[in-house]
Formats: sequence, structure tokens, C-alpha cells
Amino acid sequence: MNDLIIIGGGPAGIAAGIYASRKKIKTLLITDYFGGQWIVASDIQNFIGFKSISGFNLSKALEEHLRLQSDIEIKDQTLALKIEKKDNGFAVKTNKEEVFETKTVLMALGTHYRKLNVPGEDKFMGRGVFYCATCDAPLMKGKAVAIVGGGNSGFESAIDLLPYASKIYLLEYANTFSADLTTQEKAKNSGKIEAITMAAVQEVFGDEFVKGIKYQNRQSGEIKELAVEGIFISIGYQPSSEIVKGLVELNKAGEIVVDCKTQRSSLEGIWAAGDISDALYRQGNIAIGDAIKAVLNIHDYLKGK
Ligand SMILES: Cc1cc2nc3c(=O)[nH]c(=O)nc-3n(C[C@H](O)[C@H](O)[C@H](O)COP(=O)(O)OP(=O)(O)OC[C@H]3O[C@@H](n4cnc5c(N)ncnc54)[C@H](O)[C@@H]3O)c2cc1C
Repeated sequence: MNDLIIIGGGPAGIAAGIYASRKKIKTLLITDYFGGQWIVASDIQNFIGFKSISGFNLSKALEEHLRLQSDIEIKDQTLALKIEKKDNGFAVKTNKEEVFETKTVLMALGTHYRKLNVPGEDKFMGRGVFYCATCDAPLMKGKAVAIVGGGNSGFESAIDLLPYASKIYLLEYANTFSADLTTQEKAKNSGKIEAITMAAVQEVFGDEFVKGIKYQNRQSGEIKELAVEGIFISIGYQPSSEIVKGLVELNKAGEIVVDCKTQRSSLEGIWAAGDISDALYRQGNIAIGDAIKAVLNIHDYLKGK
């Protein structure tokens, strides 16, 4: 049996793995991929110790640091699907039909892109429907695209798409855009963007690939179609906490509620750190600090046992 299973290979999971190994806690780290959300950032200027580094290079450096540790077992390209409470700890089930037992769990699964949940979204995912403009903007060279979401992430997506797309429709559900004004001006000054407010997206349509998007004008009730080959859904992030729903306390946003001194969740034996927790700020540096705090507390807990 493991003493600790860390789920997640972003900054929180990696930092936790390094500390757990150095504390000689018998640990298994399960992650889908290494690096975390900022892997797509072109330039990170606030990671302490680096004036400027790409998200990709930072993620690689963190992963290499983790892999130098001798006392940790790693299962990457693996998804944790379920956590079950057992008499003496927990069982973690993966998408590879494996079950791992552990005394404690650290949840470091971060967040994933929020979906629109309209017809056609799943069908065309990767075939015209995208969630990361930084990753997929180059595919849109010379094409008309729609961005759904008029907050900061929508306008950031627009800025990523400007060098490639021939035309950008920016659809917002409310009657104003919530992105900060500087970002809005930067995008709007390009002349390529047509901003549409009060738009409730109804459907994504196409054949093999996306051909357009249908939305309803919430003021007039009129249904309209835009002919686009790419749709970027930029309506924020959602904590990846589904696998502990019903097991630990979640807040309204779906974040795991933790005690901020120790990172303990409401259920003995489960800790959480990073963007999946109800921490006030979403930053890599903070995720790392909170994960380290969690592992030190897990170490004390295991010693106490
Ligand atoms: C574009 C962008 C730029 C950013 N720039 C900065 C910046 O400049 N400075 C800064 O401090 N922060 C920045 N951030 C924020 C920072 O990336 C996050 O705060 C940080 O990544 C949170 O770390 P985390 O480990 O909690 O979660 P995540 O980074 O979300 O990592 C979660 C990990 O869990 C894994 N995972 C998820 N579900 C499962 C599952 N079921 N089974 C197994 N593994 C799973 C994922 O594969 C991933 O490895 C940026 C974020 C973005 C999106």
C-alpha cells in the first residue's frame, strides 16, 4: 500500500512529488500529462528565479526535477477516474483498469476548460471546435472564426488569432464585455473583430468539419448563423473535482474546500492544493507553495498514525 497518491502533474503535483520523495513518503504520482495549464504560455515572467521563460520550457524543467527524485513511482499518461473510501485509506482507479491503494491522497488535478454544452460541440471537438487559441490559432490561417466568451480569456484568444484568422466574430452572452479595457482595445483596434453581444449560442454545425455556428439574439429572439471554420470556446475553467464529488466538500464553483493552514479537505486522508482547491488566487507559484504545505502536513499526519 502507498502512503500517498498524488493526482496531477502540474506545478502543484510536481512540487508535491519532489517534497514527498525527499521526505521518504512511499508515493505514487498519477498524471495525464506533465506541466499543467501554463504549458501553452509563450512567456512567463513571474516564476521566481526566471526573468522570462516559456511555459513549455518551465514545465519541462519542473518535470526533469521531479524525475531526478529516486523515491517516487510515476504513472504518466494515466487518468485517475475514481476514488473510493476504504477502511484503512483509499482506492484510486485509473483508465488503465488499475487500482492503487493508499493511506492518503493529494488532489492536484487543477482545472479544465469549461464547455458550452450545445449540440455539435462534442462532435466537432478538434475538427473546428477548440478551447486553446494559443495552441490551435495557426490552424486558422485565412479562415473566419468565432470566439465564444467576451471576458479576458475570449479577448486573449482574439489576440492569439489576429495574425492568422481572416475574420473574427466575438460572441458574448451578456450585453457588455467583461475583459479589461486595455485587452479589449488591443484586440478591437485590429479592425478584424466583429463583436456581438447578447448572443446565446444554440448549435455548432458542419459536415466532417465545422461550417458554422448558430446563435440567438437574446434581445430580438432572432436566430442567426455565422459561417466560420473555427470556434474557440473561451468561457473559463472548471475545477477537475468530479472524482471526489460526494466524498469531500466542494464549494459552488466545484472547488475542493480546504483548511488553508494545512490544505486538508473535509474528509480525513484527502488533501488538495493548486487550482482545484478554493484558494483565493490562481497562480503557479501559489499552487507550488500550497502543495508543499500539504505534503509537509501529510508527513506529520502519517508520522502521527
Ligand atoms: C495561458 C496561461 C498562462 C499562465 N501564466 C501564469 C504565469 O505567468 N504565472 C503564474 O504563476 N501562473 C500562470 N498561470 C496559472 C497557472 O498555470 C496555474 O495556476 C497552475 O498551473 C495551477 O497548477 P495546478 O498544478 O494546480 O493545476 P494544473 O496546472 O491545471 O495541472 C493539473 C494536472 O493534473 C492533471 N490531471 C487532471 N485531471 C487528471 C486526472 N483525472 N487524472 C490524472 N491527472 C489529471 C493534468 O494532466 C495536469 O498535469 C497561467 C495559466 C494559463 C492557462
